[in-house]
Amino acid sequence: MTVYPLQVEPTRVLPELPVMLPGTLAVDESGAIRGVARLTVVAKGDGLASGSHTTLLPPELYLRQLLDFDVASDDALLDFMGNFGLLGSGSLDGKSSGAYETPVSTMRSARERAAVLRDTSRTLLANEGMLEPDELFALWESRGGNPLASVIFQNDPLEVAVKLATGVVTNALAPFGPRVSTPGSSKHEVFGIPLESAVCAQMFNHIAEGAAYRRCALPSCSRAFVRQVGRAVKGQFKLEGVEYCSPQCARAAASKRYRDRKRDERLRTASERDSE
Ligand SMILES: [Zn+2]
Repeated sequence: MTVYPLQVEPTRVLPELPVMLPGTLAVDESGAIRGVARLTVVAKGDGLASGSHTTLLPPELYLRQLLDFDVASDDALLDFMGNFGLLGSGSLDGKSSGAYETPVSTMRSARERAAVLRDTSRTLLANEGMLEPDELFALWESRGGNPLASVIFQNDPLEVAVKLATGVVTNALAPFGPRVSTPGSSKHEVFGIPLESAVCAQMFNHIAEGAAYRRCALPSCSRAFVRQVGRAVKGQFKLEGVEYCSPQCARAAASKRYRDRKRDERLRTASERDSE
């Protein structure tokens, strides 16, 4: 089913690392985003250590929350970054922390990086046969929505998109590469990694494990997903025999089946009455 088989190095899944969350975000008229890192002070050994406010991404964010919001809306983009981390140039990356005088990003570059990640996500789906290439290009958002014009003549446009996607994922995985640190907690565990890196690690891990995508059987959802997100424990998921992307969709489908059955019963009763 895969059009261009992808290989990974190293051939193992990457650890989940937390993403640094921004504190309050403010945007000025020029679109510059200023924010203050949310720092927390924690007791560690004999003393106090400061760390930033970090979070692990929800499972399959790159198939779910990343594709769900309206990238054209400033509010939706800021909301997404407030929940999951900054995107764009100069994002909080742990190199510096504290109060920011200089912009941490701009709306323009945040929107472009969100678009790049969404295009990358959809490209992986198209490469797995979950999305028609025509649909992928119709939905294309980065590079002004006209990505492949310069190279489209030489190659299969899907091949170009897949190569772009592999470049995006590879570049973003730098925090998972070799590093040297002193004993104790590593910088990445304390300060987190950029959102883009964590999103691309989710993509990498699905490629590394040869994950099989499926579509949610609820017609009004039909989201592509790998595992049904569980409702009880964070990060818990079901893999086998799952038709729906979430318990919510499974419940919606069950109640629709119930309503349909009731309606059929009513119709049958009515027609029996009429025929008497
Ligand atoms: Zn669903």
